[in-house]
Amino acid sequence: MLQHDVIIVGGGLAGSRAAVEIARTDPQLNIAVVAKTHPIRSHSVAAQGGIAATLKNVDSQDSWKAHAFDTVKGSDYLADQDAVALLTQEAPNVVIDLEHMGVLFSRLDDGRIAQRAFGGHSHNRTCYAADKTGHAILHELVNNLRRYGVTIYDEWYVMRPIIEEGDAKGLVMYHLESGRIEVVRAKAVMFATGGYGRAFNTTSNDYASTGDGLGMAAVAGLPLEDMEFVQFHPTGLYPVGVLISEAVRGEGAYLRNAHGDRFMEQYAPSKMELAPRDITSRAIATEIRQGRGIHPDGSPGGSYVHLDLRHMGRETIMSRVPFCWEEAHRLVGVDAVHEPMPVRPTAHYSMGGIPTNTRGQVRLGPEGFVSGFYAAGECACVSVHGGNRLGSNSLLECVVYGKLTGAAIAEDVQSRKLPELDERPYIEAAQQRLQNLCDRQGEYRINQVRQQLQDTMSEFCGVFRSQELMQRGLDELGAIAQQVQQIHLDDSGTLWNTELIEAMELENLLIVAQTILHSAFNRRESRGAHFREDYPSRNDGDFLHHTLAYHSAAGVDIVPMSVNLSLFEPQERKY
Ligand SMILES: Cc1cc2nc3c(=O)[nH]c(=O)nc-3n(C[C@H](O)[C@H](O)[C@H](O)COP(=O)(O)OP(=O)(O)OC[C@H]3O[C@@H](n4cnc5c(N)ncnc54)[C@H](O)[C@@H]3O)c2cc1C
Repeated sequence: MLQHDVIIVGGGLAGSRAAVEIARTDPQLNIAVVAKTHPIRSHSVAAQGGIAATLKNVDSQDSWKAHAFDTVKGSDYLADQDAVALLTQEAPNVVIDLEHMGVLFSRLDDGRIAQRAFGGHSHNRTCYAADKTGHAILHELVNNLRRYGVTIYDEWYVMRPIIEEGDAKGLVMYHLESGRIEVVRAKAVMFATGGYGRAFNTTSNDYASTGDGLGMAAVAGLPLEDMEFVQFHPTGLYPVGVLISEAVRGEGAYLRNAHGDRFMEQYAPSKMELAPRDITSRAIATEIRQGRGIHPDGSPGGSYVHLDLRHMGRETIMSRVPFCWEEAHRLVGVDAVHEPMPVRPTAHYSMGGIPTNTRGQVRLGPEGFVSGFYAAGECACVSVHGGNRLGSNSLLECVVYGKLTGAAIAEDVQSRKLPELDERPYIEAAQQRLQNLCDRQGEYRINQVRQQLQDTMSEFCGVFRSQELMQRGLDELGAIAQQVQQIHLDDSGTLWNTELIEAMELENLLIVAQTILHSAFNRRESRGAHFREDYPSRNDGDFLHHTLAYHSAAGVDIVPMSVNLSLFEPQERKY
């Protein structure tokens, strides 16, 4: 049996930053990171626009409290305000620390870190490395993993955590290359497994964003928090869905409908294109629904709107958002210096996730924690984003809560021993699970079932929702759950069997999809990214609480959990 003091699942920003913190705090600890991809291929590497922090390099009036207020207002008052306070107070420290590690941030003329405008933020506070910020940060963090001697298991797929009587003892993982199954025991287990964008048919996320950590936590009997809050980013490139960063609007681009109007005037006159994402996505979806979307021949009634950069000029475009220009050019043949880009909302980010406190400890429910189990980053819900995340606050969350969770782990493991663990039943159960998948003689192919799941989620649980729509979605998912039991695999070998991985990912996507739909069905109000046509207003009296959803074979049980409101009173949310 393999053993480490700490095992972290996920080599993105959250997992890598936690590992660095643990190594810095106690160099004697034996730390390992497991990732189903190479760590540098984690979705974090694709982050574009930047990371928010009140450095005050551009705007001396900024303060952590202004950042906290913007974040809480952006969340539609569902964020836990103690967690937001920590996030925004720590932000300048973690960004300066990244800079000391060697991250190549873009600069002002005087050499200080440059900061740009971002949606929902009242000051220019987003630090960036052109539009390749995730790339710049993740490379330095992963270099540091090597520097601190962290063991890296790349292309190992984690199948489950091992939790016995409320105590995390390790995990079971599968080696993609050789088909080997290993149990790892550890004093602390941390999940930093990222999001689930692949539950939808149009997404900015990579192929590995399949919500594995969430699925595994749910199977272990743990709740998932606020899963109804799915962020649709306003500007996915049409038709492919890949992201055109909000930085493009931060640098001044306009949104226009088929009549050439800057329609954001109707929806958020004070913020225009820099309104928060939930509002901007609903505005675009409304324009398209009401016939003011654009067809490829330019006529009205089509299914996208235009993102117009032309007035920004070649030099700004090429120096500030070169990657977005390149994406549009390469993927849809649009030269944004001369033509507008076709865009529409794309599934982007998970506000919900595995519930934790501000030390990253995973919650058992409204009360109590699983000892030795931690989570941070997009898979976790410490709830700094509530109902809607502001752009550039997610990289920040990964770095701040990666750091704080790492510090908590380094402290907690001092009083924990390596657990007693009999690995045999876990190895046998894992072998049996894989064998069962290989033996299934069903009539469905994985990609067919996955496509149907993604189409169902996009159609019945997208930007606009209602009881009737979601009931149809739940019925569809019931049928899809049957099909998942009747898939068949072409490859039953042990070497590099990517089909087996896809089959396990599909099981996780199904759990995530069921949890999102049930949570959304249950929240009979509109808040943040969750918009119900049958309940179009926010209802603080009945719904100013978090959703905890417990998934089981019998269904999904919903339990409310209170929100921390220690800084700001809820107000009407207007821009
Ligand atoms: C295109 C794009 C642009 C973005 N731009 C920005 C931005 O500019 N600013 C901002 O703040 N946010 C941005 N975001 C959001 C932000 O990038 C992510 O929320 C954040 O990077 C997530 O980091 P993470 O460490 O939680 O997970 P990830 O970076 O997604 O890493 C997940 C890790 O878990 C591993 N893993 C998952 N499941 C398993 C398993 N079963 N077994 C083993 N390993 C597993 C993966 O291999 C990977 O290493 C963007 C997101 C996208 C998609």
